[in-house]
Amino acid sequence: MLELRPNCEYCDRDLPPQSTLARICSYECTFCADCVEQHLHNVCPNCGGGFVPRPIRPRNAYRSGVSLQDQPASDRRVQLRHDKQRLAGFISDIAPTPPEKR
Ligand SMILES: [Zn+2]
Ligand SMILES: [Zn+2]
Repeated sequence: MLELRPNCEYCDRDLPPQSTLARICSYECTFCADCVEQHLHNVCPNCGGGFVPRPIRPRNAYRSGVSLQDQPASDRRVQLRHDKQRLAGFISDIAPTPPEKR
């Protein structure tokens, strides 16, 4: 099950479960659309993969036992573990290669 993390790892803005700005990589590293576009250039700083919009888990249980109430979002904030200054080289090396060829 996808862990719905509460914030952008880069700028720390809130990304509640219903946010359409949340982006995730295949490891669920979570960032906002602005940081993915302006700072990360579609390169996850943790794994080098690309991002996709995070799916929105429905608030309402249309099927028994599956909803945001049944499996709530995470409240554990995650902070970037890499130095922002040093990230530039990592990102510029990888960004020219599309995610499906990385
Ligand atoms: Zn951000
Ligand atoms: Zn990642």
